[in-house]
Amino acid sequence: MRPPSVDSLARSLADTGLPHPLLVDAARRAIAAGDPDSARSLAEATRRTFLQPVVNATGTLLHTNLGRAPWPVDDPGGYTNLEFDLATGQRGSRQDHAGALLARLCDAEAAIVVNNCAAAVLLVLAALAEGSSVAVSRSELVEIGGGFRVPDVMARSGANLVEVGTTNRTRRADFAAVGDDVALIMKVHQSNYRIVGFTETTGVDELADIGPPVVADIGSGLLDAACPWLPGGPPAWLADEPAARQTLAAGAALVTFSGDKLLGGPQAGIIAGQAELVARCARHPLARALRPGGHVLGALQQVALAYLHRDLDGLPLWRMATRTVEELWARAEALGVGRPTEMTSVPGGGTLPGAEIPSAGIAVDGDHTAALRAAPRPVIARVSDDVTELDLRTVDPADDDVVADAVARAVGDR
Ligand SMILES: *Cc1c(COP(=O)(O)O)cnc(C)c1O
Repeated sequence: MRPPSVDSLARSLADTGLPHPLLVDAARRAIAAGDPDSARSLAEATRRTFLQPVVNATGTLLHTNLGRAPWPVDDPGGYTNLEFDLATGQRGSRQDHAGALLARLCDAEAAIVVNNCAAAVLLVLAALAEGSSVAVSRSELVEIGGGFRVPDVMARSGANLVEVGTTNRTRRADFAAVGDDVALIMKVHQSNYRIVGFTETTGVDELADIGPPVVADIGSGLLDAACPWLPGGPPAWLADEPAARQTLAAGAALVTFSGDKLLGGPQAGIIAGQAELVARCARHPLARALRPGGHVLGALQQVALAYLHRDLDGLPLWRMATRTVEELWARAEALGVGRPTEMTSVPGGGTLPGAEIPSAGIAVDGDHTAALRAAPRPVIARVSDDVTELDLRTVDPADDDVVADAVARAVGDR
């Protein structure tokens, strides 16, 4: 029998809903491999590479591979006043919307938004310390993950790194000794590791009066240590995580942080603090290359307004982070599949190493993760000791049916 033509094979897959050119690609590859019947699975494999919503049942709140924080969007995608001042009819700035609200939230004079926190650090150093020196403690020359190394970023910015103190101990006097040619003192939060034992660090409050502006890269994006948006106040697992508002109040001239860690927004980086320094960052040529698009600024504005309203339902990350174990247990029982089980969630995203959040979900014997990923709406679970665990803390209750369905299919009940 002659093999089918590429075109007729592609047309026979039209029910997959994929665009014709992609079906032609699948058909061509299947025929070339001498296995026309594989065209459908090749087309399905293409679909699985598309960016799509998944259910995070891993219990890791900020899951880097799943887009870190979940955030709310009401973005119709039409024209906006992104760079248009509605009061004057003149050109406006894209930093006037979310930036201004974020500044209000951490009690800063001003704030601007760039593409991520790495970009925020790069821009601050390039704008304020290019060609001059920046003092950093040897205990804070960190790699954040994904190859982001603070010393490398500093070198790219054109700033000259001056290491002070030792790996385990850095005192105020070490910073005070570096002299007058230092343009900035930089503090980098040890987000993803801790040094324990014979250690000493110097707080922002002790560094603020040495002279050069202190820039604190706090990374995590916690806005206020008092968590006024949480009816119960800060959860115990938050421990001593530095917050933007308190770091500025302690004397930092600027703070930099991520939009998609504990802030609970889209990928972004925020530079907040003294208006004059923020303006110098905004004027630097790199600011143009690092600026975010309108949909990111729109989502950040929505998150900032939810914080100001103290509207927990508008802050999905914090809503999930603070659900009680009882609530999660009741949902686990109501799923009607698997065994309700106590579990431990983690903040993730390279923040709060070692922090554990008591949680609950369901356990199913055997490794069903591949079948769960193949569900119409992929469900991402974890396996331990040949038991599949689905932690409900990171699952939106509106998706419980999706989870129940995917598990029932995976174990062959449906
Ligand atoms: C996570 C982190 C960064 C990098 O943030 P991105 O938004 O991922 O670029 C930088 N500094 C610190 C201290 C961090 O925790």
